[in-house]
Amino acid sequence: MEHIYSLKGSKLMQLDEVRDLGVINDAKLSYEKHVDHIAKKANKAMYPATIMYLKDTKFDWNLTTGFEDSVATCHRNPYFEMTGGKMLGGSSSLNFHIYGRGYPEDYNSWAEITKDDAWKWENVLPYFIKSERLTDPKILNSPAKIYHGVEGNLGVSRDTFDASDFLDAMKTLGHESVVDINDDTPLGYMNALFTIADGVRQSSAHAYLTPAKNRPNLHVLKNTLVHKIIIENKNAVGVEVLTKNGVVTLKADKEVIVSAGTFGSPKLLMLSGIGPKERLLSKGIDVIEDLPVGKNLHDHVVVTMIYKMNKSIDFESFVTDHPVPALVGYVALDKCQKFPDYQTQNYFAHPEVLISYCSFEARYRPEICDNLYYQKNHLVVQVVHLNPKSRGDILLKNSNPIDKPIIKVGYLTNKNDIEDLLTYVEDYNRIVNTSYFNNIGGELVTDHTNCKAEFGSRKFWMCYIHCMMNGVRHFSGTCKMGSVVDSKLRVIGVNRLRVVDASVMPQVVR
Ligand SMILES: Cc1cc2nc3c(=O)[nH]c(=O)nc-3n(C[C@H](O)[C@H](O)[C@H](O)COP(=O)(O)OP(=O)(O)OC[C@H]3O[C@@H](n4cnc5c(N)ncnc54)[C@H](O)[C@@H]3O)c2cc1C
Repeated sequence: MEHIYSLKGSKLMQLDEVRDLGVINDAKLSYEKHVDHIAKKANKAMYPATIMYLKDTKFDWNLTTGFEDSVATCHRNPYFEMTGGKMLGGSSSLNFHIYGRGYPEDYNSWAEITKDDAWKWENVLPYFIKSERLTDPKILNSPAKIYHGVEGNLGVSRDTFDASDFLDAMKTLGHESVVDINDDTPLGYMNALFTIADGVRQSSAHAYLTPAKNRPNLHVLKNTLVHKIIIENKNAVGVEVLTKNGVVTLKADKEVIVSAGTFGSPKLLMLSGIGPKERLLSKGIDVIEDLPVGKNLHDHVVVTMIYKMNKSIDFESFVTDHPVPALVGYVALDKCQKFPDYQTQNYFAHPEVLISYCSFEARYRPEICDNLYYQKNHLVVQVVHLNPKSRGDILLKNSNPIDKPIIKVGYLTNKNDIEDLLTYVEDYNRIVNTSYFNNIGGELVTDHTNCKAEFGSRKFWMCYIHCMMNGVRHFSGTCKMGSVVDSKLRVIGVNRLRVVDASVMPQVVR
């Protein structure tokens, strides 16, 4: 009999029960037969730990890049998966629900780009506070509480497992332990905050649509694909949508507000005649407005560092609503800087968690994942470049709205990003010199990488980075404020049309 394990490996479920969840398909189960899946009979995407299993299912748009040079030999496929939620709540229904707002510098730079002070940090902070419903007692009993809200729609919480040994080790490397990351303490390490409340994922649908669902003026059409924005004399007057009953036209009294995400919104604009002129003409689309739609695609990039250790945290004491024991660190190389250069996400991973992450999420080759599984406990660290310079592009394959767009994600095409990552992974790896790591036999796992150069040499790290890098899926920028939409998110040159999603960010927040 095959079994399914919950996070601690303590709760058993039969395979059939997990199939009943509908989020893991048979093909994946047979492909990954050696894997003990983490799952729980729960409300599908609402249960936080199901995140890794929603990829490649009907809840994912299943977009990919074409062949990408930067996907080296350690990945299963020669392309990147551009995972995106195809359900109410979009990617907030399948993301890792780590709660972070970005930094004052991010929003102040948007204000500069758009020449609109409304985007300045002092003006956006009140909206973060208004939207939040924080339950963490540590923050609420500290001076940091002035930066948080307790009455908003979006529940935010954290687990308080004891990781003092790890945090003390970080202190010896110059990284403070902090209660909260905010204007007063922009750098440091802490237990991660999650958009989870009462064990339930706080997707944007759960947080905002559910409370509004009985409003008489709210109508949600599920399983409906928007084909095109109808534009007459440079005024958006409605949309054409594909429903299960065929194509339907919906008229807009006031405005059309597009929120189809970093891939969906530029695709829709281009299908509707808004985009780079030559590209649209080459697909036989009449040009309504010549704008750089689809350009400026970017994402945070991450290098995963896996450390084996003889002794981990006490998993038996980790009995919470949270998916995995996680600490986050925000690190600047110059300690006087008010914003981080890189973020680290530090997960204490039970072997079952690691194998799932390795196989389903990072998509490393099966032999790599097998190898890791048979070792002991691990610390899985994601070193995230928070300010990447590399840029990609989204193009239409043709004028058929059903077809997927062409995505050139461009990870690491700017050489500075690779140099930065090299500095960041070396900086993080100083952890192996701490007495904490020596005591628990902590050691970076490298044998799976096939990097033959001398350990620690520049050549070695370059090889390691290319082997272990991925995108974080914080896709942004393809309907950039300042060049595609104005500071009020109105499409430039077209009336009654706005875009309101991550595609408008000129530069993804840190
Ligand atoms: C695997 C993963 C992990 C992540 N982890 C985190 C994290 O821990 N913390 C964090 O803050 N962020 C995280 N993110 C990023 C975050 O989830 C996204 O930045 C955010 O959801 C983007 O919101 P959006 O509204 O721009 O787009 P989306 O969330 O993508 O929403 C777009 C919506 O539009 C729909 N749509 C698209 N095209 C059409 C069409 N033609 N017709 C009808 N509907 C359409 C989609 O189905 C979707 O529902 C993660 C993302 C992923 C994919």
